[in-house]
Amino acid sequence: MRADDPTATAAKPIRRVVIAGGGTAGWMVAAALSKTLGKLLDIKLVESDEISTVGVGEATIPTLVTFHRLLDINEQEFMAATQATFKLGISFENWRDVDRDYIHSFGVTGKDHWTAGFQHFWLEGHERGLASDYGDYCLELRAARADRFAHLPRGGMNYAFHMDAGLYARFLRRFSEGFGVQRVEGKIVSVQTDDSGTQIRSLRLESGVELEGDLFIDCTGFRALLIGQTLGVEYEDWSQWLHCDRAVAVQTASVGPAVPYTRSIARDAGWQWRIPLQHRVGNGLVYSSRHLNDETATRTLLGNLEGEVLTPPRVIRFQPGQRRQTWRGNCVAIGLASGFLEPIESTSIHLIQRGIVRLMQMFPAAGINQVDVDEYNQQTRAEIEHIRDFIILHYHVTDRQDTAFWRGCREMDVPASLRHRIDLFRESARVFRIPNELFAENSWIQVMLGQGIVPRQHHPVAELMGDAELSSFLGGIRSGIEKTVRQLPSHQAYVEQYCRRP
Ligand code: FAD
Repeated sequence: MRADDPTATAAKPIRRVVIAGGGTAGWMVAAALSKTLGKLLDIKLVESDEISTVGVGEATIPTLVTFHRLLDINEQEFMAATQATFKLGISFENWRDVDRDYIHSFGVTGKDHWTAGFQHFWLEGHERGLASDYGDYCLELRAARADRFAHLPRGGMNYAFHMDAGLYARFLRRFSEGFGVQRVEGKIVSVQTDDSGTQIRSLRLESGVELEGDLFIDCTGFRALLIGQTLGVEYEDWSQWLHCDRAVAVQTASVGPAVPYTRSIARDAGWQWRIPLQHRVGNGLVYSSRHLNDETATRTLLGNLEGEVLTPPRVIRFQPGQRRQTWRGNCVAIGLASGFLEPIESTSIHLIQRGIVRLMQMFPAAGINQVDVDEYNQQTRAEIEHIRDFIILHYHVTDRQDTAFWRGCREMDVPASLRHRIDLFRESARVFRIPNELFAENSWIQVMLGQGIVPRQHHPVAELMGDAELSSFLGGIRSGIEKTVRQLPSHQAYVEQYCRRP
C-alpha cells in the first residue's frame, strides 16, 4: 500500500485504543502502551474466557530482557511469577545428521580482528590442529554445557528466559491494569467498519456491548479477526520453504534440574522441543502434515518424553507466512494475527516486541499518516524476511537424507537472499550483518558451522600468525572462559536463590 492508497485515513487524533485479544501479544501491547503513553490514552483490552490462548510460546531470546528493562519490570518478580528459568541458547540435536549436535548460544565467540571475524582465526587454528571445538570460545555456550549460570558484571553473560506463557499473560495483566488498562471480558461477534470498509469503528461483543476506538490492535491470534477476516489483508504463504505446518504439545513434570537451554531435537519429519521451567517442562513436536499424520506425531512425542505427562496432547495447526501488511487503516496486527514462523529460534515473542517498539516510535497521536503506515510495513517485512531466511538455513543445510522430509529440505530452492549468505560463507567464511537485523554474525556462523558448512578459504590475516602466537591467542580465550565457568553456580541453584529473594 503506497501513500496514494485509498485506504489512507484523514488525520484524526488517536485517543481511544482497543486491543483485541489477551494472549502474550495483547498483554505485551497493553503493558508497553499503558506504561509509556497511558496518561494520553484510553486503553481497553478485550479477551474471551471462552476462546483460549495458543498456550505455547515459552522460549525467548535476550531482547526480552531489554523489553523488561524498558518497562521497569523487576526481573526477580517476573521470574517468580512466571516460574521462569534462564536460557543461554538452543541445543540442536540430530539437525546436521543423526547423533550430531551443536549449540546456538547467545553472546559472542572469541575475539574479532578489525579485518576479520574470529571464525577466520579459528579456521586457521583448526587446520593446524591448534583449535578445539568452535563453541569452546563462547562463554554462554560453555556455561550452557556445564549447566551453570549467574548474572555477571557489565552484562558479561547474555541470556533470555524460559517462562510459563499463561502466567506471563497474567503477570502483564496485573502490570497493565496498574497503569490504567481496562480489561473487558467478552466474545467479539462482529467488527464494524466505515462505509469504505477500510477503517474499523467498533467491536461488537456477544453481550451487545459496543467498543469504539480510534486505533485497533489485532491480537486475536491465528483467527486474525480484524486484519484478516474484516479488512481482508492477504496472507503470504511460505510453506514452499518451511514445510512444517502443525505441532502437538504436552506438559510434563520435571525430572531433574532445569538446564539453561532449550532442546531442539530433529525427528523424521520435524523436530521436538523441550523447554525446562521451574515447575514443569514444556514439550512439543513440530511436523509436516504431508509427511506425518496427527496420530503418529502424537505417538512420537509421547514416546520421547521424560517425566509424567500432565496435560492431554493438543494439536495446533498453522500456516508459515506473513500478512502482506501488518498495519492497514487504523488497525495494527501484532502476534500470531500478523503471521507465524515456527519456533526453532524462539522469534515470535521477539517479533511482538519489535512490533510494539515500532508502533511506539511511530505512534500516530495526531492522526494516522499513510507514509508512517508504509514505513512500518516496510520495516516489519525486512525484519521478518531476515528471520525467515535464518530459520530456513537450519533445514536446508543438512547432511540428513534419511527421510523424504529431510531430502525435501535439502533439495528445495531457497530465497536468493539466503542463497547469497550461504555461498559467501562457504566460499570465504564471511558473514555481514545488515543494520537492524536480529541475528548477528555469531548466530549465522554457529548455525552454518553447526549444520556442516566448511568454508573453502579464510582471511589471510590469520595465516600470518605463527603457531605459537595463534595457539596462545586461542588458548588464552579458551582458558579465560573455562576459569569463569568454573566459578559459576549451577543454574538450578542460582534460579532457586534468585527467585526466593524479595
Ligand atoms: P493467542 O495466544 O492465540 O491469543 C489470542 C487472544 O485473542 C486470546 O486472548 C483470545 O481469547 C482472543 N480472541 C480470539 N478471538 C476472539 C474473539 N472472537 N473475541 C474475543 N477474544 C478473542 N513464540 C516464542 O517466542 N517462543 C516459542 O518458543 C514459541 N513456541 C511456539 C510453538 C508453537 C507450536 C506455536 C504455534 C507458537 C509458538 N510461539 C513461540 C509463538 C507464540 O506462542 C505467540 O507468538 C504468542 O503466544 C502470542 O500469541 P497471540 O497473543 O498472538 O495469540
